[in-house]
Amino acid sequence: MRRRLSLFAAVTLASCAEESTQRDAPELDAATADVVSDSASANDVNVDARPSDVSPPDGPPPPDAAPPDAAPPPHLEEPRGYVYLFDPITDRRDVTEVTLPPTTTLDGHLKNHAVDVSNCLKEPGGPVVMPFGGITVTLCHELPVARPAADGHYLHIEPPADEADGNDSFAEVMMYAFVTKAHDYFKARHGVDWLDFPLPAIVNLQFKITPPLPIPGFTVGANGWSEFPNAAYFPRETWEALAAQFGLPPREHDSIIFGQAGHDFSYDASVILHEYTHAVIGTDRLNGRVFDAQGLDDSPRAMNEGLADYFAASLQDMAIVGKYGIGKLQSGGVRDLARPMRCPNDLLNEIHADGRILGSALWALREAFGADLIDAAVFGALTQFGDETTFQQAGELIVAEVSELVSELPEDMGPAIVDRSRAILTEFGVLDCERVKEWEGWNAGLRSELLPYMVAGKGEVGRLEAVPGFHQWYVDVPPLAAGVELKWDMQPAGGFGGVGGGSGDLDLAIRFGELVTFGYAAGLQVTEDARALVDGPMPQPEGFFSQGVTLTGACLPADGGRIYLALLNKADAPAAIVRMSRMVHQDSVAEGAAPSTDCGAER
Ligand SMILES: [Zn+2]
Repeated sequence: MRRRLSLFAAVTLASCAEESTQRDAPELDAATADVVSDSASANDVNVDARPSDVSPPDGPPPPDAAPPDAAPPPHLEEPRGYVYLFDPITDRRDVTEVTLPPTTTLDGHLKNHAVDVSNCLKEPGGPVVMPFGGITVTLCHELPVARPAADGHYLHIEPPADEADGNDSFAEVMMYAFVTKAHDYFKARHGVDWLDFPLPAIVNLQFKITPPLPIPGFTVGANGWSEFPNAAYFPRETWEALAAQFGLPPREHDSIIFGQAGHDFSYDASVILHEYTHAVIGTDRLNGRVFDAQGLDDSPRAMNEGLADYFAASLQDMAIVGKYGIGKLQSGGVRDLARPMRCPNDLLNEIHADGRILGSALWALREAFGADLIDAAVFGALTQFGDETTFQQAGELIVAEVSELVSELPEDMGPAIVDRSRAILTEFGVLDCERVKEWEGWNAGLRSELLPYMVAGKGEVGRLEAVPGFHQWYVDVPPLAAGVELKWDMQPAGGFGGVGGGSGDLDLAIRFGELVTFGYAAGLQVTEDARALVDGPMPQPEGFFSQGVTLTGACLPADGGRIYLALLNKADAPAAIVRMSRMVHQDSVAEGAAPSTDCGAER
């Protein structure tokens, strides 16, 4: 169980935009010049001087390329090629012949106004990194491989016999078709011009570790290369940080990257559209974490995921995101926006899972009022989002956009749409969510997502003496109860190999009848009625860490009633809670219960 939880926490389609770095304006001049010279000049190789534009001197000819002595294929304005319209599962492994957008390259490699596709070949030639003593990490070799056949079409490129083929060009064609689709949709429908350059998109990403070492979440495939079970939007700044650390070559632009992990993330159109939407959102929106009166709030980053899912689903007119890309790893991770998820009950404190709250709410709006209105309203709101926009602010902005868009409608229609929109966003908890859940028996292994409840650690948050959780808990205490026993098990946090990373160390802030509240002006201020100091985490034989406490005396209200509990993490490591339990001791605290505390006073 522990291994699976660690693994699946790492493999969901993640935005790599963790830090809130400032995004520079895209270098439109350079990008435009690049495109123009690609299409109009014979000096392509000189102007667009990337090593990837020429064949490697020693390597074998790339697969799918025309033989070197053949006449160059004609450049077609409407080349034909095969794609999965959705993904291999939804399409039942049948590819569909479509018209591809024309390239802007002389040799027909897959680059145009929107995207610059590279394969990442399992061969020497990629960057080599030596992160620490004696270990070498080799990245695959980026190279655009796909070329048209002699007739100018791409119909010779089909899915490979083996899905685990780490070098296939079908991945390139999928990426080319769907990034262009996404770019042209955002440009035509919403006026997005900040991605008007060939966005680098890399398929078949894998890496090789020498000597081979086991890293959790990264299986070594039959070809000796480690599988990369994810896809990501890679802002230029994030790459630069990595590049500076490991001596990698610089990149001019943001990029999107797609792994090969025994199955190919590029074969799932929804995954491509999801990552592209992250690029649209960019690095100066929805990457922050908010400290509010209820605790930490990750709804900005969750909304980044929820919006990426929503636009992926809306562009495909299909509510399911990642049926193949995620589903081949873990069926419980597939995100079906037609399945309502609500705040607070469905909060799991993991941004992709919590993104489903916004995603499913927007899908419900789309079902009610159609894609045209809701896409426009959501995008209009999105352009006003900042780094720390929350569910509540986003919900208000979306209602305001709907209101604006329907203002020309007759009086018996427009206001009704606005009212219903507000009602749907409230029903899903995008609006007016109080982040509190009942503390009851819970086991992460019994939920399809297999995700623990996280409480951030001081190592991640820094400036506070203890870190409040993302949401609070309540327990209804009967009158005259002798004690309330609360226990939780945590999986080890991080650490190389998934062990040795320690765990969270939680205390409980308690308030009678209302939420604990927090202020952050000078350290952490807590408005509470009692504080339960809990014994430190005890390592268990199976590798978990356990904590527990029995609340008595002044921890509990004299006449019973609802108590609210906020978790406070004193450790640097995050708490990853995989099991919780609660027991009310009515007459006396039973023997063997967790250690008691009276919070400093008898009742
Ligand atoms: Zn994402």
